[in-house]
Parts: sequence; structure tokens; C-alpha cells
Amino acid sequence: MSQPIIAIVGSGPIGSAYARVLIEQHPGARVVMFEAGPQLTGIPGESVRNIQDPEAKAQAREKSQGPQAGAYRAALGIPEATVTEGMFTARQGTHLLDFGGPGSAHAPSFPAAAAATNVGGQGAHWTCATPEPAFSEKIPFIPEEEWESLMAQAKGLLHVQGEAFADSAVGGAIRSLLDEEFGAELPDGYGVGTLPVAGDPQEDGSMRWAGADVVLGPLIEPRSEQASRFELRDLSLVLRIELEGQRATGVSYKDLRTGQISFFAADAVVVAADAFRSPQLLWASGIRHRARPGSRTCPPGVEPGGPGGGGQPHSVLRTRAPVLRAGDVFRIHSLSDGSAGRAREQPMGLRQHGLRHAQAAAVRRRGKF
Ligand SMILES: Cc1cc2nc3c(=O)[nH]c(=O)nc-3n(C[C@H](O)[C@H](O)[C@H](O)COP(=O)(O)OP(=O)(O)OC[C@H]3O[C@@H](n4cnc5c(N)ncnc54)[C@H](O)[C@@H]3O)c2cc1C
Repeated sequence: MSQPIIAIVGSGPIGSAYARVLIEQHPGARVVMFEAGPQLTGIPGESVRNIQDPEAKAQAREKSQGPQAGAYRAALGIPEATVTEGMFTARQGTHLLDFGGPGSAHAPSFPAAAAATNVGGQGAHWTCATPEPAFSEKIPFIPEEEWESLMAQAKGLLHVQGEAFADSAVGGAIRSLLDEEFGAELPDGYGVGTLPVAGDPQEDGSMRWAGADVVLGPLIEPRSEQASRFELRDLSLVLRIELEGQRATGVSYKDLRTGQISFFAADAVVVAADAFRSPQLLWASGIRHRARPGSRTCPPGVEPGGPGGGGQPHSVLRTRAPVLRAGDVFRIHSLSDGSAGRAREQPMGLRQHGLRHAQAAAVRRRGKF
């Protein structure tokens, strides 16, 4: 397929990495990224920590907080001035999934589960700490050589560097105390060091923190060739991945500015809508992994007793990019379908939407927004 059209759901670091790698590795690929939340900064996906003005920073965080933001808080009976992170509200920039009002998820066993709904996802709010997984944190079925190469690629995409603030006298003193206390017990090759972080040190000693913007890189550089093949649509909530048999044919999405529901045809769909909403979207689309004895396949956010039973964390983690698997990124050029390359998009009336709309509405009722 010479000019595949790829729909990506979610603009966080994972969706952005897929967009970048696919566009860079396939010279004809066009990527359209759908993001349910608003764009917060002039540069799409930039970390809100780079916003200097405290008021503007607070506003950007609030815009990411979905149904719990602004006036909606009062409607839920939460006093507007109350900020009790993890109780009434999640950490700023994020919103609880189970917040108790209309459209809330139902997660009584996971009440503090939170998400961010904005361009850049949690990547616009994260702390940027990037310690490398080691020992049991590594994924055992990925061969060492491939792991090393993927880690190097990930560090490059995120602008990771290991010597941030290494010249801080306070940091040096803390490291030396830690080394005295723990240095001798650490395994060979490991020692007390600076924490790797994702960002670009500035000449004045400050840091420009990395968000999804650095992962997107040339895709959001004005007039770059890659930017001409990339489109980001904010406030566009994907309701369903459309299927023909077992093959994804595109996505149905709602323009949250106009309320219009449309179908976007794509040759491949990447779901990168976070650890909660990816499985939820898959479920709403009728995509489930094969049931195994003793396994329950319902995504979190859906009440036990809803379709499929109760949530299982392990089924969440395996569904990050289910339609294009990680290995497929490198094989995208082998997709073959003569219909690629055309802009194939059509508005979908409610009547035409029929059952699909009803299913999507059910998902919203169960807790999407
Ligand atoms: C405050 C904070 C600090 C953190 N600090 C660190 C840290 O120091 N180090 C670290 O490694 N990790 C950290 N994390 C976690 C890290 O940010 C996340 O693991 C990472 O962002 C996940 O990336 P993602 O792309 O999978 O999901 P997200 O970044 O959550 O992005 C998913 C996006 O999908 C969108 N979406 C969901 N459903 C739909 C839909 N149906 N249609 C359209 N769009 C949809 C969402 O709005 C969201 O923007 C932190 C997170 C937070 C909130």
C-alpha cells in the first residue's frame, strides 16, 4: 500500500510515538489523530509545566479535567474552592473516572483511577521522570537486543537525558549520602545517580519539559514535509472503531464543537486512548480478546454485571495498540489495499448510525464522559 491512511485515537505520548514512527518509516503514510480533549498550548501537546504564568497554567490544567472541570464541579456538589487531590478531585490536570455524576464511570474498587483529557494526554502533565526499567520491570519476551534498541528509540523520542541538574550542590550532597547508605548493596553496574528526565536544558539553567510535542517533533513543525501528512483533530471523541469482519475500516467520531457524528475511513487504526479508555473503546466496538477459562474481559469503568463481567488489570495492559500491534509499525509498508490514499470521510446521520450510535451512547452512559 503506497499511501495508507492511519487513524490514531489519543494524542498522548503513545499515540504520538505511533504517529511519528509511522510517518517517518512510511514516506506515503497519512496520519489523522483524534483527541477527545482540547489543545491547551500554542504548540500541540506541550507540557503545561512550561507555562510561566501561574494563572494560565492553572487554566490549562483545568481544561484537561473533563467532566469535573469548572462549573460542572458545582453541579456535582463539590465546593468550587476544594482541592483535595485523590478524594474529591484527582491530581490537577487529571479527572477521576468515577466522579459520581452523570457520565461517570463506576469503579468502586478503584475509586482514585484518573485520566487526562487534552491534547498530549497525561504527557502534558507528567513529571518527566524516566528511570529505565530494570530486572523484573523488563518485559521478558522481548529479546535483549530489541529491548535495547527500542529503549534507545524511546529515549530519543522523549528527549531523555541523564545528567539533568547534575551540577546542583544539594543534589550532589543527597547523592553522596545515599551512596554512603546504600551504595554497597546495589547490584553490579548500578549506583546512586541523577534521575533521568525528559526535557531540554536551557542556557539559563532551567528545563523545557518534554510533552507529546517533542515526540511528535517534525510532525508539528510548520511547513515540514512530515507535517503535511499529519493532522490532529482536537475535541473529537472517537465513539467506535468500525469493522468489516475482523478488519478495522475506520472510526466513528463526534465533533464535540458541533455534535456532528462522522465516519472516517482508514486503512489501519491505532488505539492509544490510555489504559482505561482503550479497552473501553475496544469493548464498545465489539473487539474483545478470546475468552479463556477463568478470565473476565470487561474493561475498568464498566460496572461488574455489565457486558462481560468485572475488570481485570492484565487485560487492560495488553490492549495498548491492538489493531496495529507494536511489531506492525515496522511492517506497515506491507499493507495492501487499492483503496488507500483517498480522503474517505462522510458525515453519519443519527438514523444511519443506528445500532452503532446506541452502543456508543451506552458507553457514554456507563462512563466515558
Ligand atoms: C501528574 C502525572 C505525572 C506523571 N509522571 C510520570 C513520570 O514522571 N514518569 C512516567 O513515566 N510517567 C508519568 N506519568 C504517567 C504518564 O504520563 C502516562 O503513563 C502516559 O502519558 C500514558 O500515555 P498514553 O499515550 O498511553 O495515555 P495518555 O497520555 O493518557 O493519552 C491518552 C489520550 O487519549 C485520549 N482519549 C481517550 N479516549 C479517547 C477517545 N475515545 N477518543 C479520542 N481521544 C481519546 C485522552 O483524552 C488522552 O489525551 C504521569 C502522569 C500524570 C498524570
